[in-house]
Amino acid sequence: MLRIEDALAIIIDRTPILPAWEIALSSAGNCILREDALSDLDLPPFDRARMDGYAMQAVATRGASPEHPVRLREIGEVAAGSDFSGRVKPGEAVRIMTGAPVPAGADAVEKIEVIEVLGDGWIELKEEVAQSKNITPRGLEARSGDLAVEAGERITPAVAAVLATFGHARVKVSPRPRVALLSTGSELVAVDQRPGAGQIRNSNSSALAGYVGQAGAEIVHSAVVEDDFAKTVGAIGSALEVADVVLLSGGVSMGDYDLVKPALRELGAEVLIEKVAMHPGKPTVFATLGEKVIFGLPGNPVSVAVSFYLFAWPALMKMQGAGQLELPRVRAYCTQRVKGAPPRRSHQPASLHIRDGRAEVEPLKWSGSGDLVGFMRADALLVIPEEQPFVEAGELVDVILLP
Ligand code: AMP
Ligand code: MG
Repeated sequence: MLRIEDALAIIIDRTPILPAWEIALSSAGNCILREDALSDLDLPPFDRARMDGYAMQAVATRGASPEHPVRLREIGEVAAGSDFSGRVKPGEAVRIMTGAPVPAGADAVEKIEVIEVLGDGWIELKEEVAQSKNITPRGLEARSGDLAVEAGERITPAVAAVLATFGHARVKVSPRPRVALLSTGSELVAVDQRPGAGQIRNSNSSALAGYVGQAGAEIVHSAVVEDDFAKTVGAIGSALEVADVVLLSGGVSMGDYDLVKPALRELGAEVLIEKVAMHPGKPTVFATLGEKVIFGLPGNPVSVAVSFYLFAWPALMKMQGAGQLELPRVRAYCTQRVKGAPPRRSHQPASLHIRDGRAEVEPLKWSGSGDLVGFMRADALLVIPEEQPFVEAGELVDVILLP
């Protein structure tokens, strides 16, 4: 039985990185950026007004008070998208709009709300204006030539905005890994069927389609396979023709009809992982055939989730060239005593919250790895170390955040 870290090391080592390609930024949302993107200009590109108001020399407002207001002469205006050609001298002011370049000579902007516009070309200030007030200096947010977005980052909406600002109309990104889903089990019926005696609806395909989407990959093929050796071999063979990754659910434990491993061997795949010291998800299988990677996830719905997030998620991230392969983790205080599963590391479905400024993780009531209804409420996995039969209330534990 492999330790989780050792299993993960094998998976990462054997998973190839897909070749990058260049696409329009407008289609690259949620893809992983594959080369560093630099800024091609200072941001802001000029000293920028943060308020609608007047630009002036701060020194000219010295001593201004309600009793002794200071008057400045309005000499023009500048709106966003335009430029003021003259130079502001002490005693002068330029009407300015948010986002406009501050005119030469001016070193402060006061907002319109506190200025009295006298109407005859003069304005009046009843308070001093500090130097640099309401001005974002050129280059404060970024400098031309800076590393703006690092290779390996996912293009979130905020990242897309940065890439757009610096002119990256086309970007080098990872293609979405092509994933084939095979749910094995003669007991499975489709979602629109009413299960007969001994049958259940196929829920893993729906869950896995979602997990795969969260990981930025796409499903190119999905099928249900009966527990029949020849059919299992045929289904995996067809899946391998169209996908980079094959995700199987079920058929990997010790039952007489657990045919995934023999079918993989029949196809000439190298089975590198057969058991991992984890709970749930112990019979997780990992195999490769050429550049293709294959995961045999245990059939129980919670095992599917845990195995997927611990192993298939990092593999899909590696394929995309992501900077961070594993799901994020935090530390939090456990709210109640919860059982471990020595000698395996246990992953208890849980819910994370902040109470009075303290991160707390609450183990959810669930009846085991088949309990998909209990798992539905989980937003985290509480990690119980392999040697611990229990985690006590108040103990600080590792928590894996689910996407
Ligand atoms: P297996 O690993 O094939 O022995 O399956 C373990 C458990 O998971 C059994 O109770 C199966 O009925 C259940 N299971 C397997 N595949 C699915 C599926 N696609 N959807 C829901 N439950 C499943
Ligand atoms: Mg089965």
